Amino acid sequence: MVGRFAPSPSGLMHLGNARTALLAWLDARARGGEMLLRIEDLDRDRCRPEFARAIRDDLAWLGLDWDAETRPQSLRDPDYTAALERLSQRGLVYECFCTRRELAAVASAPHSSDDRQAAYPGTCRELTEAQRERLRAEGRRPALRVRMPEGAVEVRDRLHGSRPRPVGGDVIVCRSDGLYAYQLAVVVDDAADGVTDVVRGDDLLGSTARQVALQQLLGLPQPAYAHVPLMLGEDGERLAKRHGAVAVADLRAAGATARDVVGALAGSAGIGDGRAAAAAELIEGFELTRVGRRPWRLAPGTPILSAI
Ligand code: GLU
Repeated sequence: MVGRFAPSPSGLMHLGNARTALLAWLDARARGGEMLLRIEDLDRDRCRPEFARAIRDDLAWLGLDWDAETRPQSLRDPDYTAALERLSQRGLVYECFCTRRELAAVASAPHSSDDRQAAYPGTCRELTEAQRERLRAEGRRPALRVRMPEGAVEVRDRLHGSRPRPVGGDVIVCRSDGLYAYQLAVVVDDAADGVTDVVRGDDLLGSTARQVALQQLLGLPQPAYAHVPLMLGEDGERLAKRHGAVAVADLRAAGATARDVVGALAGSAGIGDGRAAAAAELIEGFELTRVGRRPWRLAPGTPILSAI
């Protein structure tokens, strides 16, 4: 099997990212698999090379190694263009002139709460060439959308089971500013990198059906997914910078050891007893399907934070 870390270098690695990375790494290593690192710097405005360097340092410090680093997303535009061309040749791509505001939420971050959004109503699906020309003449720049299959596709997830999940309408594959959309990029990248197993946070479960539908349209294999529970801030929201100093680098600077951090993260997922441990010591007997299913809420008194 081939697993991967796929961090977005838009900030420092926080404990939630580290916890997901630990689970992905343990899954690969316990199964004798390979682990890849791919920097997901698709969004040039938000991503910085210094964050990518810091993430590599943090992973290495935590003892989470990788066998190879594959090309970052910022160098893969030709691959995305080729995939888009294949969809286009089948008549599946159309220009969408809906406003940026309407589109921002669906096209940008992988973590926008995609799954809760209403499906695109198909406003621009059947525009005539004359209508498109008029919109272009008004200076409107189109995004590109793919006609998706109606209904649901079967998503195979090792933790959530195999079940049909709604695709949720036509998906944007290229934004009006020319940036390729995450949904297309991740599908193309995982296939190009030969990734067989994707372990990632369960906030992405809602957009997985869209990715599987794109895989099917492009004739790419579906990796085995495992969406693991996230780490939440004390307010129950997905962990983010506003929750304070929860970056791995902050804990490290404050004197926490990698064993402290790894032990606490593992303990939060029901692996080991929460005592300090090196990642490599947790490989033996690790079974991903046995990790705790509940999100870990990071309360102020959490022992791991006492170092700072
Ligand atoms: N780059 C995404 C992130 O940092 C991960 C997406 C994925 O694992 O598919 O959250």
